[in-house]
Amino acid sequence: MDISSILQGGYQHPLSRQWQGRRALTKSMLMYPIFITDDPDASVEIKTLPGQRRWGVNKLEGFLGPLVQKGLSSVILFGVPFKCQKDGRGTPADDPQGPVIQAIHKLRTLFPSLYIACDVCLCEYTSHGHCGVLNQDGTIHTAPSVARIAEVALNYAKAGAHCVAPSDMMDGRIKAIKRALVDAGYGNRCTLMSYSAKFASALYGPFRDAAGSAPAFGDRKCYQLPPTAKGLARRAIQRDVGEGADIIMVKPALPYLDVIADAAQLAPDHPLACYQVSGEYAMVCAGADAGVYDLKVMAFETVESMVRAGATLILTYFAPQFMDWLDV
Ligand SMILES: [Zn+2]
Repeated sequence: MDISSILQGGYQHPLSRQWQGRRALTKSMLMYPIFITDDPDASVEIKTLPGQRRWGVNKLEGFLGPLVQKGLSSVILFGVPFKCQKDGRGTPADDPQGPVIQAIHKLRTLFPSLYIACDVCLCEYTSHGHCGVLNQDGTIHTAPSVARIAEVALNYAKAGAHCVAPSDMMDGRIKAIKRALVDAGYGNRCTLMSYSAKFASALYGPFRDAAGSAPAFGDRKCYQLPPTAKGLARRAIQRDVGEGADIIMVKPALPYLDVIADAAQLAPDHPLACYQVSGEYAMVCAGADAGVYDLKVMAFETVESMVRAGATLILTYFAPQFMDWLDV
């Protein structure tokens, strides 16, 4: 056999197999999405998201303490209000007594080393369930949507969030949020992570269940990207880099590894996040339950494929398990 045909000598040992990765997955690369609700004592199972719960602020210490002990270094908060009065502009989003701002205060006090990101969107707080402010005819009214989202992001930063992450996909919101942060003196105190390439995916079902954020009418296809839209995704990534995003995100992750790889090339000087969304997580769990594969092996394979594609930060519901599975 020709010498150039022989590759196996290079990965015949477990250690040399590890060396084949450009980067190894570490605990600090994992951000854990958590759902905070407005009953302070809540601990409610989410049926479609195995092992995940909606938490009240009084339960955060018991829930997150052991994970922080094991090396969990960051979380991203999603507010799930049930008691608030929703309206057209999502007024409850930045209510100082609402679940997100209360959770930021609580977590900053309980876990000074924990990095706290906040998802920023209006859909959990609007009466119509859309991510922006609407015109009379039900279309998105961009200017007031962007202004309101920037206001919410700034209020999360003021409450102590280390990072604000707008997931609404309104045009121009990155520039508006960055401007608002800078003008209020938070330009150097809060990171802006953009859900840049967020696709209209079938994989958000369990999340909508968890967050109660299904739109009352219509869908989100006017602002989330079509799954086939590679070019639009590239434009959105480049736009958000230009508008001042500190971190770029691709969502969902597994069906969009090519977009993650594109983002790594388009924004090589930015951290690159991807979100292994609720449906991806549920899919991995369901396959394991059905005996198709081993859960841990598949969790590693999916998350490491994201690292291979270029992600440096992964939002995943597997974060707690990885704290047990990874050494560092
Ligand atoms: Zn939304």
